Amino acid sequence: MKICAFEVREDEKKDFTHLAGEFGIEITCHPGSLTMDNISICKGCEGVAILGESIMDEKMLDALKSEKVLYVATRSIGYNHINLEYAKKVGIKVCNSNYPSKGVADYTVMLILMSIRNFKRAFLHQRVNDYSLNGLVGREMKDLAVGIVGTGRIGFEVINNLSGFGCRMMAYDVFENENVKKYAEYVSLETLYEHSDVITFHLNLNESTYHMVNDESLEKMKDGVILINCARGEIMNNETLIRGIENGKIGGLALDVLENEEGIYHHDKKSSILKNRDMAYLRQFPNVVLTPHIAFYTDKAVSSMVRCAVEGIYDFSTTGTCKTQL
Ligand code: NAD
Repeated sequence: MKICAFEVREDEKKDFTHLAGEFGIEITCHPGSLTMDNISICKGCEGVAILGESIMDEKMLDALKSEKVLYVATRSIGYNHINLEYAKKVGIKVCNSNYPSKGVADYTVMLILMSIRNFKRAFLHQRVNDYSLNGLVGREMKDLAVGIVGTGRIGFEVINNLSGFGCRMMAYDVFENENVKKYAEYVSLETLYEHSDVITFHLNLNESTYHMVNDESLEKMKDGVILINCARGEIMNNETLIRGIENGKIGGLALDVLENEEGIYHHDKKSSILKNRDMAYLRQFPNVVLTPHIAFYTDKAVSSMVRCAVEGIYDFSTTGTCKTQL
């Protein structure tokens, strides 16, 4: 059996090599995306393993079908780059990947701590030999009320992590999770907005969560609120964030994801002209921390994503189904 893997990073190669041995299959790794220009590479492959920049639209799925590819595995949780309906129609089976939520939850707590202790200011000051305490007074977690919006896998782990800090925790989700109630109180979104010093969002992106942080919802929050986003950029309206920082309504912002980050994050762009003015403007504020969508990025998560893809294709081929089939 042969698998072609696309968008393969250096850090994934050892896992692909290991799994090729474990399953007794041939895997070829390619750094670029799968496109109509290089599709001939797939000749003789039963499955392809991709990431989010290999777009599986109708044209591509038809072309894969012509190359006799039967399975597509994406090494990501998200699969909005794959036309699932059309894949089903042409008989190509698709699966995605998963990984433990702990890494993202730990990262979220790090961003909260960086925000309440003015890490970015302190870091900028010491780079110019300013060792004064000006503007660096922080707040202690146990004195704060933290709102957690979205208590699915990651939201729950964040609550679990924060339970050791002694802060008051308020939670909101359309579905309540009994385990959350051990540590946090479920309240209405209005109450959470009104009483939280820090609000962290762990929602999946859908119609109901698109621009959930907007002018209207920000108005309901405390003055000087700290907002954290390790979920999806589009949950927050960039314009609202910028206005909120400018007028002081937002006291601190830590974003691992940003609206319109696509094509920039996860690429070396140091010699390029970037066309994301919001990113450039937000980045210069002393109380705004931007990181390039890396909350997921741990050795454990990488191994898990590669394993899910290879195992998924192998299981499809040998049993007709797989654990992460979409
Ligand atoms: P999950 O599906 O387990 O949890 C999402 C929760 O949001 C669910 O409990 C759901 O009921 C709730 N929800 C959805 N719409 C809602 C609404 N309108 N109001 C209230 N609650 C609503 O997802 P997860 O695995 O915890 O992931 C959360 C987010 O984190 C996702 O957007 C995911 O893409 C993102 N993520 C980011 C990174 C990163 O590296 N930054 C890594 C992994 C996941």
